[in-house]
Amino acid sequence: MNQIKKGSVVIGKEIDSINELRYGDLMYRNMQKVLAIGAHFDDVELGAGGTLAKLANNRAKVYKLVLTDDVTNFDQKKIKTDFESSRKEGESAANILGITQIEPSRYEKCTKLEFNSINMQLVEKIIFDYSIDTVFTHFLSDIQQDHVEASKISYVAARYCKRVLFYQSNRYILPKDFYPRIFFDITKEVDKKIKALNCFSKDHDRFGNLFQQTIKQNEVWGYQSILGSKTNFAEGFVPLKMVID
Ligand SMILES: [Zn+2]
Repeated sequence: MNQIKKGSVVIGKEIDSINELRYGDLMYRNMQKVLAIGAHFDDVELGAGGTLAKLANNRAKVYKLVLTDDVTNFDQKKIKTDFESSRKEGESAANILGITQIEPSRYEKCTKLEFNSINMQLVEKIIFDYSIDTVFTHFLSDIQQDHVEASKISYVAARYCKRVLFYQSNRYILPKDFYPRIFFDITKEVDKKIKALNCFSKDHDRFGNLFQQTIKQNEVWGYQSILGSKTNFAEGFVPLKMVID
């Protein structure tokens, strides 16, 4: 191949070596230090659990950060969760996925999470301390108040990261459409995702159906994105930015 010069850099050799890489290698080579951020202890597993397990299995260091204490007393819907059991359940779920649940210096009260410089800098410090290159977080137009704030905290804190991907951990109809364009095939990881979700008590599984409906959504995305004759599962993400080195 003719070598093309750009400035003083010869790029012909680089193109040859890139051709030898599989697409997956290129993706996994980029996503080495990953931080998945959730407002509550089950969000990351719901929105990106299969993807995080896949990345961890491909030599990435994957961390999970939760921003609120997840304490819920929603009498009208008979939903009650406490901090300590939610934290432990979250840790068990993270272990199943092969990822590490970080202990932040503090948790905000559930429903009281706000974008402010203190919360943003807490996340920013973790991103710098762990040399994070890729962040997964809530969609910016989510309808759940903590999710909206967590999204803003995350994408401001991650402004120097090369990849920021949004997930949706609930199944609400949102003010702005969550229409994913980046998909991870989690057909091999879906059993791990289900096992991780099963670590959480029934009150996390809203109306006894959120976990099951999420896996159904993964199945629909698996069909839409892969179009295989067999059943596939996929997680879908909306990119804020996606740089491939
Ligand atoms: Zn949540």
